[in-house]
Amino acid sequence: METCPQCAAGLVAPGGGPPWCPACEWNLGAYDERRVPELGWRGLDRRAHRLAYRLTTGPSRAGGHARWLLLGASVFLLAAIAGMVGLGAWIVYTTWLSFATVFGVLLLLLGYVLRPRLGRLDRDADRLEPASAPAFFALLRRVAEATGAPMPDVVMVDSRLNASASAVGLRRTKVLTVGLPLWAVLAPQERVALLGHELGHFVNGDVRRGPLTGVATRTLGELSLMLRPGAPSGGSLLMMAADVLARAVLRVAHTVTVAARVLLVWLSMRESQRAEYLADDLAARAAGTEAAASLLDLLARSETLGMYVRRDARAGLSPAAARASVAALRVADPVVRQRSIREEVSMFASHPPSGLRARRIARLSPAAPAVLLTDADDTAIDAELDRRYASARREIAIGG
Ligand SMILES: [Zn+2]
Ligand SMILES: [Zn+2]
Repeated sequence: METCPQCAAGLVAPGGGPPWCPACEWNLGAYDERRVPELGWRGLDRRAHRLAYRLTTGPSRAGGHARWLLLGASVFLLAAIAGMVGLGAWIVYTTWLSFATVFGVLLLLLGYVLRPRLGRLDRDADRLEPASAPAFFALLRRVAEATGAPMPDVVMVDSRLNASASAVGLRRTKVLTVGLPLWAVLAPQERVALLGHELGHFVNGDVRRGPLTGVATRTLGELSLMLRPGAPSGGSLLMMAADVLARAVLRVAHTVTVAARVLLVWLSMRESQRAEYLADDLAARAAGTEAAASLLDLLARSETLGMYVRRDARAGLSPAAARASVAALRVADPVVRQRSIREEVSMFASHPPSGLRARRIARLSPAAPAVLLTDADDTAIDAELDRRYASARREIAIGG
């Protein structure tokens, strides 16, 4: 077995990739060449990963300036787009039906492509109403009270292995989305922890979700996805030449938006990580430290969890049986936590790695839960969601 050059402990490499030292974490931040590149260029990707690892695991400095820089950058971006539209309209108006009008129209088109994205409610999403899910909403109110969070305006459920909190539209409607496949396998106190974390995002001044900065980061995010060059297409020589040219233009546009996004993300990273840790603290306050940590240990194995959940969905297991089947995945393991740190570190990750978060919560002084979800209430919630569980199971069973 290879040993660590720093402390002579045996190296580990579960799942392959460059080995690291479980004792002193030497080489844990090494770039795994099997990663799917996020920036399109391997070299850039390696650099971004190194930066993200340092920002994620390094000591947290007070980032007061970052907040203002981020706000400034967001205002600049939105003002530049508004200016582009204004200039385009002015050119079209003053040069109507001359050659120069084309430039005005182009500017207007570009402004349209770059228009700020406020986000909106998903019309197809399944909304949960207090009338049909009284036990769920009673729990939500108790968690909101314990964490000092406002109630969300809209609660939705979907079939992802995730949960999220966001603000959408001009009025910044607070939306809580709970992925049923995840919810189904959580133990009662882990459910409290999940709600505590998500509601926690409505409490703290979360910069990436703030009105101005949220719109700027969302706009750039959607834009870089839209501009991502696709696979080359075949066809005639002329088509292929046009394809190559279009892809080159797209690639440049994509790189520019990605670079702008990296800049915003970089400016906001410390702040948004602090927001995540605050949300974790609120989760621990509501659910107790033990359940908050076990939820994160479960998420640190999200790949295996996903496999189990799909398998159990195909077998049509009830939430209780599915919950029992993933029991072994919530056991705390330092190497699993480290592996999640290596795999989840990214400039574009919405959260710090689950393993890092689990470790942080586990190191807090143990605290009892403020909200206790009894087995009876937990069963009542499952009964309310029963029909929706079934359709979520069908969806992930076909989704493969
Ligand atoms: Zn070592
Ligand atoms: Zn979060």
